[in-house]
Amino acid sequence: MKLDELKVECDYFDFDEKFYQKVEPQALYDAYLISYSKQACDLISLDYSECKTQEFVDFVNGKKILKGSIPYSQAYAGHQFGYYVPQLGDGRAINFGSVDGWHLQTKGAGLTKYSRQGDGRAVLRSSIREYIMSEAMHALGIPTTRALAIIGSNHPVHRSYEEEETAAIVLRMSPSWIRIGTFEYFAKQKDTKHLKQLLDYVIDNSYSHLKNLDYSYERFYFELVDKTAKLMSQWMAYGFMHGVMNTDNMSVAGLTIDYGPYAFMDNFEMMCICNHTDVEGRYSYNNQPHIAKWNLEVLAYALKDVCDVNKLIEYLQTFMSANQKHYLELMNKRLGLDDNLSGDSNLNLVVSLLEALEVSKCDYNCFFWELTNINSLEDFSNVLDIVPIRQPLEEWFEKYKDTCKKQNQDFESMKKLMKKTNPKYVIKNYMLQESIEKAKEGDFTLVNDLLEIAQSPFDEHKEFERYSKPTPQEHANLQLSCSS
Ligand code: AMP
Ligand code: MG
Repeated sequence: MKLDELKVECDYFDFDEKFYQKVEPQALYDAYLISYSKQACDLISLDYSECKTQEFVDFVNGKKILKGSIPYSQAYAGHQFGYYVPQLGDGRAINFGSVDGWHLQTKGAGLTKYSRQGDGRAVLRSSIREYIMSEAMHALGIPTTRALAIIGSNHPVHRSYEEEETAAIVLRMSPSWIRIGTFEYFAKQKDTKHLKQLLDYVIDNSYSHLKNLDYSYERFYFELVDKTAKLMSQWMAYGFMHGVMNTDNMSVAGLTIDYGPYAFMDNFEMMCICNHTDVEGRYSYNNQPHIAKWNLEVLAYALKDVCDVNKLIEYLQTFMSANQKHYLELMNKRLGLDDNLSGDSNLNLVVSLLEALEVSKCDYNCFFWELTNINSLEDFSNVLDIVPIRQPLEEWFEKYKDTCKKQNQDFESMKKLMKKTNPKYVIKNYMLQESIEKAKEGDFTLVNDLLEIAQSPFDEHKEFERYSKPTPQEHANLQLSCSS
Protein backbone atom coordinates (compact mmCIF):
# COMPACT_ATOMS: atom_id res chain seq x y z
CA MET A 1 0.00 0.00 0.00
CA LYS A 2 1.10 3.55 -0.68
CA LEU A 3 1.48 5.98 2.20
CA ASP A 4 -1.59 7.86 1.04
CA GLU A 5 -3.63 4.67 0.98
CA LEU A 6 -3.08 3.84 4.66
CA LYS A 7 -6.34 3.93 6.57
CA VAL A 8 -5.66 5.92 9.72
CA GLU A 9 -8.14 5.87 12.60
CA CYS A 10 -8.13 8.18 15.60
CA ASP A 11 -10.00 6.76 18.54
CA TYR A 12 -8.78 8.95 21.39
CA PHE A 13 -11.03 11.95 20.92
CA ASP A 14 -14.02 10.41 22.70
CA PHE A 15 -12.16 11.23 25.89
CA ASP A 16 -12.55 14.58 27.58
CA GLU A 17 -10.06 17.13 26.27
CA LYS A 18 -8.28 17.28 29.60
CA PHE A 19 -6.77 13.86 28.81
CA TYR A 20 -5.03 14.86 25.59
CA GLN A 21 -3.89 17.77 23.51
CA LYS A 22 -4.24 18.11 19.76
CA VAL A 23 -0.82 19.28 18.60
CA GLU A 24 1.00 20.36 15.53
CA PRO A 25 4.30 18.50 15.19
CA GLN A 26 7.32 20.77 14.91
CA ALA A 27 9.37 19.36 12.08
CA LEU A 28 13.14 18.98 12.24
CA TYR A 29 14.95 20.91 9.59
CA ASP A 30 17.16 19.18 7.01
CA ALA A 31 15.67 15.82 8.00
CA TYR A 32 16.84 12.67 6.23
CA LEU A 33 16.08 8.98 6.43
CA ILE A 34 18.48 6.85 8.48
CA SER A 35 16.69 3.52 8.35
CA TYR A 36 13.32 1.85 7.99
CA SER A 37 12.18 -1.61 9.00
CA LYS A 38 10.64 -3.89 6.40
CA GLN A 39 9.19 -6.09 9.12
CA ALA A 40 7.40 -3.11 10.63
CA CYS A 41 6.16 -2.03 7.18
CA ASP A 42 4.59 -5.47 6.80
CA LEU A 43 2.57 -4.93 9.98
CA ILE A 44 0.72 -2.03 8.38
CA SER A 45 1.01 -3.29 4.78
CA LEU A 46 3.13 -0.36 3.67
CA ASP A 47 5.11 -0.72 0.42
CA TYR A 48 8.83 -0.66 1.15
CA SER A 49 9.42 1.61 -1.82
CA GLU A 50 7.39 4.31 -0.11
CA CYS A 51 10.00 4.54 2.64
CA LYS A 52 12.62 5.80 0.24
CA THR A 53 10.62 8.87 -0.74
CA GLN A 54 10.84 12.42 0.56
CA GLU A 55 7.15 12.11 1.40
CA PHE A 56 7.95 9.36 3.88
CA VAL A 57 10.59 11.50 5.62
CA ASP A 58 8.00 14.29 5.76
CA PHE A 59 5.50 11.85 7.26
CA VAL A 60 7.87 10.73 10.04
CA ASN A 61 8.86 14.37 10.52
CA GLY A 62 5.23 15.34 11.08
CA LYS A 63 5.17 17.61 8.02
CA LYS A 64 2.90 15.36 6.03
CA ILE A 65 -0.25 14.44 7.92
CA LEU A 66 -2.03 11.40 6.51
CA LYS A 67 -5.73 11.43 5.73
CA GLY A 68 -7.74 10.64 8.85
CA SER A 69 -4.88 11.48 11.17
CA ILE A 70 -5.18 14.18 13.84
CA PRO A 71 -1.92 14.44 15.81
CA TYR A 72 -2.26 14.48 19.60
CA SER A 73 -0.36 13.90 22.81
CA GLN A 74 -1.66 11.98 25.82
CA ALA A 75 -1.72 13.10 29.42
CA TYR A 76 -0.51 10.74 32.12
CA ALA A 77 0.94 10.79 35.59
CA GLY A 78 3.31 8.33 37.21
CA HIS A 79 5.49 7.23 40.06
CA GLN A 80 9.08 8.13 39.17
CA PHE A 81 11.62 6.34 41.35
CA GLY A 82 8.84 5.68 43.83
CA TYR A 83 7.52 9.25 44.02
CA TYR A 84 4.21 10.32 42.57
CA VAL A 85 4.36 13.00 39.87
CA PRO A 86 0.80 14.16 39.11
CA GLN A 87 1.48 15.65 35.69
CA LEU A 88 3.58 13.92 33.07
CA GLY A 89 2.38 13.05 29.58
CA ASP A 90 3.77 12.82 26.08
CA GLY A 91 6.32 15.59 26.44
CA ARG A 92 7.95 14.75 23.14
CA ALA A 93 5.78 12.03 21.66
CA ILE A 94 3.02 12.74 19.17
CA ASN A 95 0.39 10.19 18.18
CA PHE A 96 -0.87 9.99 14.63
CA GLY A 97 -3.71 7.49 15.10
CA SER A 98 -3.73 3.77 14.28
CA VAL A 99 -3.36 1.63 11.16
CA ASP A 100 -4.54 -1.98 11.41
CA GLY A 101 -4.51 -1.70 15.19
CA TRP A 102 -0.95 -0.31 15.33
CA HIS A 103 -0.93 3.07 17.03
CA LEU A 104 1.68 5.23 15.33
CA GLN A 105 3.66 7.62 17.45
CA THR A 106 6.73 9.75 16.81
CA LYS A 107 9.22 10.48 19.55
CA GLY A 108 11.09 13.78 19.44
CA ALA A 109 8.55 15.66 17.33
CA GLY A 110 8.54 18.89 19.31
CA LEU A 111 6.96 20.61 22.29
CA THR A 112 3.58 19.67 23.69
CA LYS A 113 1.55 20.84 26.66
CA TYR A 114 3.28 18.08 28.64
CA SER A 115 6.89 19.00 27.84
CA ARG A 116 7.55 20.61 31.26
CA GLN A 117 11.21 21.75 31.22
CA GLY A 118 12.06 19.59 28.17
CA ASP A 119 12.66 20.68 24.60
CA GLY A 120 10.41 18.10 22.97
CA ARG A 121 13.35 16.53 21.15
CA ALA A 122 15.22 13.23 21.22
CA VAL A 123 18.93 12.95 20.43
CA LEU A 124 20.31 10.72 17.69
CA ARG A 125 21.98 8.24 20.07
CA SER A 126 18.87 7.47 22.14
CA SER A 127 16.74 7.27 19.00
CA ILE A 128 19.07 4.71 17.38
CA ARG A 129 19.03 2.72 20.62
CA GLU A 130 15.23 2.62 20.76
CA TYR A 131 14.86 1.87 17.06
CA ILE A 132 17.14 -1.17 17.11
CA MET A 133 16.28 -2.56 20.51
CA SER A 134 12.54 -2.78 20.08
CA GLU A 135 13.11 -4.90 16.99
CA ALA A 136 15.70 -7.03 18.82
CA MET A 137 13.30 -7.74 21.67
CA HIS A 138 10.59 -8.75 19.24
CA ALA A 139 12.93 -11.20 17.54
CA LEU A 140 13.55 -12.88 20.90
CA GLY A 141 9.81 -13.28 21.38
CA ILE A 142 9.65 -10.61 24.09
CA PRO A 143 6.48 -8.48 23.87
CA THR A 144 7.41 -4.95 22.88
CA THR A 145 6.47 -1.85 20.97
CA ARG A 146 7.95 -1.76 17.46
CA ALA A 147 9.68 0.82 15.30
CA LEU A 148 8.97 1.66 11.68
CA ALA A 149 11.69 4.17 10.86
CA ILE A 150 14.20 6.65 12.14
CA ILE A 151 15.11 10.03 10.65
CA GLY A 152 18.05 12.28 11.55
CA SER A 153 18.65 15.98 11.11
CA ASN A 154 21.05 18.85 11.61
CA HIS A 155 18.77 20.24 14.27
CA PRO A 156 21.01 20.99 17.29
CA VAL A 157 20.09 19.64 20.73
CA HIS A 158 21.84 20.37 24.02
CA ARG A 159 22.10 17.64 26.62
CA SER A 160 25.55 18.37 28.07
CA TYR A 161 28.05 21.21 28.11
CA GLU A 162 30.67 19.18 26.28
CA GLU A 163 28.86 18.24 23.14
CA GLU A 164 26.25 19.65 20.80
CA GLU A 165 24.15 16.79 19.52
CA THR A 166 21.58 16.48 16.76
CA ALA A 167 17.90 15.61 16.97
CA ALA A 168 16.29 12.52 15.49
CA ILE A 169 12.78 11.08 15.39
CA VAL A 170 11.74 7.45 15.69
CA LEU A 171 8.36 6.40 14.42
CA ARG A 172 7.17 3.86 16.98
CA MET A 173 4.19 1.54 16.69
CA SER A 174 2.28 -0.22 19.41
CA PRO A 175 -1.05 -1.97 19.92
CA SER A 176 -1.37 0.40 22.90
CA TRP A 177 0.41 3.38 24.40
CA ILE A 178 -1.59 3.34 27.61
CA ARG A 179 0.53 3.17 30.74
CA ILE A 180 -0.14 2.47 34.40
CA GLY A 181 0.49 6.21 34.74
CA THR A 182 -2.41 6.94 32.38
CA PHE A 183 -4.69 5.20 34.89
CA GLU A 184 -3.13 7.15 37.73
CA TYR A 185 -3.91 10.37 35.87
CA PHE A 186 -7.52 9.42 35.20
CA ALA A 187 -7.97 8.14 38.77
CA LYS A 188 -6.84 11.50 40.11
CA GLN A 189 -9.95 13.13 38.57
CA LYS A 190 -12.08 11.30 41.19
CA ASP A 191 -14.62 10.63 38.51
CA THR A 192 -15.47 6.98 37.93
CA LYS A 193 -16.94 7.77 34.52
CA HIS A 194 -13.52 8.65 33.13
CA LEU A 195 -11.83 5.70 34.71
CA LYS A 196 -14.39 3.32 33.27
CA GLN A 197 -14.02 4.96 29.88
CA LEU A 198 -10.28 4.32 29.96
CA LEU A 199 -10.80 0.73 31.07
CA ASP A 200 -13.26 0.16 28.24
CA TYR A 201 -10.79 1.71 25.81
CA VAL A 202 -7.96 -0.56 26.98
CA ILE A 203 -10.20 -3.62 26.88
CA ASP A 204 -11.35 -2.69 23.36
CA ASN A 205 -7.79 -2.23 22.15
CA SER A 206 -5.88 -4.94 23.95
CA TYR A 207 -8.28 -7.34 25.71
CA SER A 208 -11.24 -7.49 23.34
CA HIS A 209 -12.03 -11.08 24.40
CA LEU A 210 -13.08 -9.66 27.79
CA LYS A 211 -15.62 -7.27 26.35
CA ASN A 212 -19.12 -7.65 27.83
CA LEU A 213 -18.02 -10.33 30.30
CA ASP A 214 -18.96 -10.01 33.98
CA TYR A 215 -16.17 -8.47 36.03
CA SER A 216 -14.30 -7.51 32.87
CA TYR A 217 -12.31 -4.82 34.72
CA GLU A 218 -11.08 -7.26 37.32
CA ARG A 219 -10.32 -9.83 34.61
CA PHE A 220 -8.31 -7.25 32.70
CA TYR A 221 -6.21 -6.65 35.81
CA PHE A 222 -5.70 -10.38 36.41
CA GLU A 223 -4.56 -10.86 32.82
CA LEU A 224 -2.19 -7.94 33.06
CA VAL A 225 -0.68 -9.45 36.22
CA ASP A 226 -0.12 -12.71 34.30
CA LYS A 227 1.30 -10.94 31.25
CA THR A 228 3.64 -8.79 33.30
CA ALA A 229 4.85 -11.77 35.34
CA LYS A 230 5.71 -13.48 32.07
CA LEU A 231 7.30 -10.39 30.57
CA MET A 232 9.55 -10.03 33.62
CA SER A 233 10.59 -13.69 33.34
CA GLN A 234 11.63 -13.05 29.74
CA TRP A 235 13.61 -9.95 30.66
CA MET A 236 15.34 -11.89 33.43
CA ALA A 237 16.06 -15.01 31.39
CA TYR A 238 17.68 -12.95 28.62
CA GLY A 239 19.47 -10.55 30.97
CA PHE A 240 17.52 -7.48 29.86
CA MET A 241 17.45 -4.45 32.14
CA HIS A 242 14.98 -1.68 31.38
CA GLY A 243 16.60 0.90 33.61
CA VAL A 244 13.61 3.21 34.27
CA MET A 245 10.65 1.12 35.39
CA ASN A 246 8.60 4.09 36.53
CA THR A 247 4.84 3.52 36.37
CA ASP A 248 4.63 5.86 33.37
CA ASN A 249 6.96 3.47 31.53
CA MET A 250 4.86 0.37 32.27
CA SER A 251 2.44 -0.76 29.61
CA VAL A 252 -1.06 -1.96 30.50
CA ALA A 253 -0.87 -4.26 27.48
CA GLY A 254 2.09 -6.11 29.01
CA LEU A 255 4.66 -4.77 26.53
CA THR A 256 8.20 -3.45 26.92
CA ILE A 257 7.90 0.29 26.29
CA ASP A 258 9.99 3.47 26.42
CA TYR A 259 13.54 2.32 25.83
CA GLY A 260 15.96 4.57 27.71
CA PRO A 261 19.24 3.62 29.42
CA TYR A 262 18.42 -0.09 29.05
CA ALA A 263 21.00 -2.84 28.53
CA PHE A 264 21.36 -6.48 27.81
CA MET A 265 23.71 -7.42 30.59
CA ASP A 266 27.27 -8.18 29.48
CA ASN A 267 28.90 -10.03 32.39
CA PHE A 268 26.41 -11.65 34.73
CA GLU A 269 25.88 -9.55 37.84
CA MET A 270 22.83 -10.12 40.01
CA MET A 271 22.62 -6.55 41.27
CA CYS A 272 23.64 -4.95 37.98
CA ILE A 273 22.44 -1.35 37.52
CA CYS A 274 22.35 -0.03 33.95
CA ASN A 275 21.00 3.46 34.65
CA HIS A 276 23.63 5.85 35.94
CA THR A 277 20.96 7.97 37.67
CA ASP A 278 19.64 4.99 39.63
CA VAL A 279 22.08 5.40 42.50
CA GLU A 280 20.23 3.11 44.90
CA GLY A 281 19.61 0.37 42.37
CA ARG A 282 15.83 0.55 42.52
CA TYR A 283 15.77 -0.73 38.93
CA SER A 284 18.70 -3.12 39.21
CA TYR A 285 18.50 -6.42 37.34
CA ASN A 286 17.40 -8.49 40.29
CA ASN A 287 14.79 -5.98 41.46
CA GLN A 288 12.82 -5.93 38.23
CA PRO A 289 10.08 -8.46 39.08
CA HIS A 290 9.62 -6.85 42.51
CA ILE A 291 9.29 -3.41 40.95
CA ALA A 292 6.84 -4.68 38.34
CA LYS A 293 4.71 -6.05 41.17
CA TRP A 294 4.98 -2.73 43.04
CA ASN A 295 3.82 -0.93 39.89
CA LEU A 296 0.87 -3.28 39.52
CA GLU A 297 -0.09 -2.52 43.10
CA VAL A 298 -0.16 1.17 42.20
CA LEU A 299 -2.52 0.27 39.36
CA ALA A 300 -4.76 -1.73 41.70
CA TYR A 301 -5.20 1.30 43.96
CA ALA A 302 -5.83 3.55 40.95
CA LEU A 303 -8.75 1.24 40.12
CA LYS A 304 -10.17 1.11 43.64
CA ASP A 305 -13.29 3.12 42.78
CA VAL A 306 -14.33 0.84 39.93
CA CYS A 307 -13.08 -2.57 41.06
CA ASP A 308 -12.99 -4.61 44.22
CA VAL A 309 -9.45 -3.63 45.17
CA ASN A 310 -9.12 -6.50 47.66
CA LYS A 311 -9.68 -8.97 44.83
CA LEU A 312 -7.01 -7.24 42.77
CA ILE A 313 -4.48 -7.26 45.59
CA GLU A 314 -5.28 -10.87 46.37
CA TYR A 315 -4.63 -11.85 42.75
CA LEU A 316 -1.44 -9.82 42.71
CA GLN A 317 -0.06 -12.23 45.32
CA THR A 318 0.22 -14.84 42.53
CA PHE A 319 2.68 -12.59 40.68
CA MET A 320 5.99 -13.85 42.10
CA SER A 321 5.17 -17.54 41.79
CA ALA A 322 3.90 -17.08 38.21
CA ASN A 323 7.03 -15.12 37.41
CA GLN A 324 9.27 -17.81 38.86
CA LYS A 325 7.41 -20.56 37.03
CA HIS A 326 7.83 -18.87 33.63
CA TYR A 327 11.41 -17.98 34.43
CA LEU A 328 12.30 -21.55 35.28
CA GLU A 329 10.60 -22.80 32.12
CA LEU A 330 12.69 -20.43 30.05
CA MET A 331 15.92 -21.19 31.89
CA ASN A 332 15.31 -24.90 31.42
CA LYS A 333 15.02 -24.23 27.70
CA ARG A 334 18.17 -22.14 27.68
CA LEU A 335 19.95 -25.08 29.32
CA GLY A 336 18.40 -27.51 26.86
CA LEU A 337 16.43 -29.29 29.58
CA ASP A 338 13.07 -30.75 28.65
CA ASP A 339 10.47 -29.54 31.15
CA ASN A 340 8.56 -32.80 30.94
CA LEU A 341 11.60 -34.61 32.29
CA SER A 342 12.73 -32.06 34.84
CA GLY A 343 9.45 -30.53 36.04
CA ASP A 344 10.27 -27.67 38.37
CA SER A 345 13.18 -29.44 40.04
CA ASN A 346 15.95 -27.37 38.45
CA LEU A 347 15.71 -24.20 40.48
CA ASN A 348 18.85 -25.03 42.47
CA LEU A 349 20.72 -25.78 39.28
CA VAL A 350 19.79 -22.37 37.88
CA VAL A 351 20.62 -20.52 41.09
CA SER A 352 24.02 -22.19 41.30
CA LEU A 353 24.62 -21.37 37.62
CA LEU A 354 23.99 -17.68 38.25
CA GLU A 355 26.42 -17.75 41.18
CA ALA A 356 29.06 -19.46 39.07
CA LEU A 357 28.56 -17.05 36.17
CA GLU A 358 28.96 -14.07 38.45
CA VAL A 359 32.13 -15.33 40.13
CA SER A 360 33.68 -16.38 36.83
CA LYS A 361 32.86 -12.96 35.28
CA CYS A 362 31.14 -14.67 32.40
CA ASP A 363 29.33 -12.89 29.57
CA TYR A 364 25.74 -13.95 30.27
CA ASN A 365 24.27 -14.48 26.82
CA CYS A 366 27.53 -15.74 25.33
CA PHE A 367 27.49 -18.48 27.93
CA PHE A 368 24.24 -19.82 26.53
CA TRP A 369 25.45 -19.49 22.96
CA GLU A 370 28.62 -21.47 23.73
CA LEU A 371 26.60 -24.04 25.67
CA THR A 372 24.44 -24.48 22.57
CA ASN A 373 27.62 -25.39 20.67
CA ILE A 374 29.04 -28.11 22.92
CA ASN A 375 29.63 -31.42 21.15
CA SER A 376 29.05 -33.66 24.14
CA LEU A 377 28.40 -33.52 27.85
CA GLU A 378 32.03 -34.54 28.36
CA ASP A 379 33.58 -31.45 26.82
CA PHE A 380 32.74 -27.90 27.86
CA SER A 381 36.05 -26.42 26.76
CA ASN A 382 34.49 -23.97 24.30
CA VAL A 383 32.41 -22.52 27.12
CA LEU A 384 35.28 -22.41 29.58
CA ASP A 385 37.44 -20.66 27.00
CA ILE A 386 35.30 -17.53 27.17
CA VAL A 387 35.59 -16.99 30.94
CA PRO A 388 38.41 -15.28 32.82
CA ILE A 389 37.94 -17.54 35.89
CA ARG A 390 37.18 -21.18 35.07
CA GLN A 391 36.80 -23.06 38.33
CA PRO A 392 33.25 -22.02 39.37
CA LEU A 393 31.87 -23.09 36.01
CA GLU A 394 33.93 -26.31 35.93
CA GLU A 395 32.25 -27.25 39.20
CA TRP A 396 28.84 -26.27 37.94
CA PHE A 397 29.22 -28.41 34.82
CA GLU A 398 29.52 -31.48 37.07
CA LYS A 399 26.08 -30.66 38.52
CA TYR A 400 24.71 -30.02 35.05
CA LYS A 401 25.99 -33.36 33.77
CA ASP A 402 24.50 -35.17 36.78
CA THR A 403 21.15 -33.47 36.24
CA CYS A 404 21.08 -34.38 32.54
CA LYS A 405 21.86 -38.01 33.36
CA LYS A 406 19.38 -38.29 36.22
CA GLN A 407 16.62 -36.77 34.11
CA ASN A 408 17.49 -38.88 31.06
CA GLN A 409 17.82 -35.80 28.90
CA ASP A 410 18.62 -36.72 25.31
CA PHE A 411 21.66 -34.82 24.02
CA GLU A 412 20.40 -34.22 20.47
CA SER A 413 17.05 -32.95 21.73
CA MET A 414 18.89 -30.70 24.16
CA LYS A 415 20.88 -29.18 21.31
CA LYS A 416 17.73 -28.60 19.28
CA LEU A 417 15.99 -26.87 22.18
CA MET A 418 18.99 -24.65 22.86
CA LYS A 419 19.34 -23.69 19.20
CA LYS A 420 15.76 -22.44 19.24
CA THR A 421 16.17 -20.52 22.49
CA ASN A 422 19.71 -19.17 22.53
CA PRO A 423 20.49 -16.58 19.86
CA LYS A 424 23.97 -16.24 18.44
CA TYR A 425 23.64 -12.46 18.62
CA VAL A 426 22.35 -10.29 21.42
CA ILE A 427 22.54 -6.54 20.86
CA LYS A 428 24.81 -5.09 23.54
CA ASN A 429 25.39 -1.45 24.38
CA TYR A 430 28.90 -1.38 22.94
CA MET A 431 27.59 -2.48 19.53
CA LEU A 432 24.95 0.23 19.60
CA GLN A 433 27.63 2.71 20.60
CA GLU A 434 29.72 1.73 17.54
CA SER A 435 26.74 2.30 15.27
CA ILE A 436 26.03 5.64 16.98
CA GLU A 437 29.62 6.86 16.49
CA LYS A 438 29.38 6.04 12.78
CA ALA A 439 25.94 7.58 12.45
CA LYS A 440 27.23 10.82 13.95
CA GLU A 441 29.63 10.96 11.00
CA GLY A 442 26.82 10.38 8.56
CA ASP A 443 27.45 6.66 7.99
CA PHE A 444 24.28 4.66 8.68
CA THR A 445 25.43 1.28 7.40
CA LEU A 446 26.04 -0.12 10.86
CA VAL A 447 22.63 1.05 12.08
CA ASN A 448 21.09 -0.90 9.23
CA ASP A 449 23.37 -3.90 9.78
CA LEU A 450 22.53 -3.98 13.49
CA LEU A 451 18.85 -3.79 12.65
CA GLU A 452 19.24 -6.86 10.49
CA ILE A 453 21.17 -8.72 13.19
CA ALA A 454 18.58 -7.61 15.76
CA GLN A 455 15.76 -8.97 13.63
CA SER A 456 17.44 -12.32 12.90
CA PRO A 457 19.64 -13.06 15.93
CA PHE A 458 19.56 -16.84 15.42
CA ASP A 459 20.97 -16.59 11.90
CA GLU A 460 24.59 -16.41 10.79
CA HIS A 461 25.94 -12.94 10.09
CA LYS A 462 29.40 -13.87 8.88
CA GLU A 463 30.72 -10.34 8.68
CA PHE A 464 29.80 -9.77 12.32
CA GLU A 465 31.21 -12.90 13.92
CA ARG A 466 32.92 -10.70 16.52
CA TYR A 467 29.51 -9.65 17.87
CA SER A 468 28.84 -13.23 18.92
CA LYS A 469 31.83 -13.10 21.27
CA PRO A 470 31.90 -11.78 24.85
CA THR A 471 31.75 -8.02 25.24
CA PRO A 472 35.29 -6.59 25.46
CA GLN A 473 35.98 -6.10 29.19
CA GLU A 474 36.49 -2.35 28.90
CA HIS A 475 32.91 -2.03 27.60
CA ALA A 476 31.21 -4.54 29.91
CA ASN A 477 28.36 -3.48 32.24
CA LEU A 478 28.87 0.25 31.77
CA GLN A 479 26.09 2.52 32.99
CA LEU A 480 24.28 4.98 30.76
CA SER A 481 22.72 8.27 31.74
CA CYS A 482 19.01 9.00 31.45
CA SER A 483 19.64 12.07 29.30
CA SER A 484 18.18 11.39 25.92
P1 AMP B 1 11.11 9.13 30.07
O1 AMP B 1 11.98 8.98 31.28
O2 AMP B 1 11.87 9.31 28.79
O3 AMP B 1 10.09 8.08 29.97
O4 AMP B 1 10.36 10.53 30.27
C1 AMP B 1 9.64 10.91 31.43
C2 AMP B 1 8.78 12.10 31.12
O5 AMP B 1 9.57 13.21 30.70
C3 AMP B 1 7.77 11.89 30.02
O6 AMP B 1 6.62 12.63 30.34
C4 AMP B 1 8.46 12.46 28.81
O7 AMP B 1 7.57 12.86 27.82
C5 AMP B 1 9.18 13.65 29.40
N1 AMP B 1 10.40 14.02 28.64
C6 AMP B 1 11.58 13.37 28.62
N2 AMP B 1 12.46 14.00 27.83
C7 AMP B 1 11.83 15.08 27.31
C8 AMP B 1 12.20 16.15 26.44
N3 AMP B 1 13.40 16.23 25.92
N4 AMP B 1 11.25 17.07 26.16
C9 AMP B 1 10.04 17.02 26.69
N5 AMP B 1 9.62 16.05 27.54
C10 AMP B 1 10.51 15.10 27.86
MG1 MG C 1 8.56 7.38 29.32
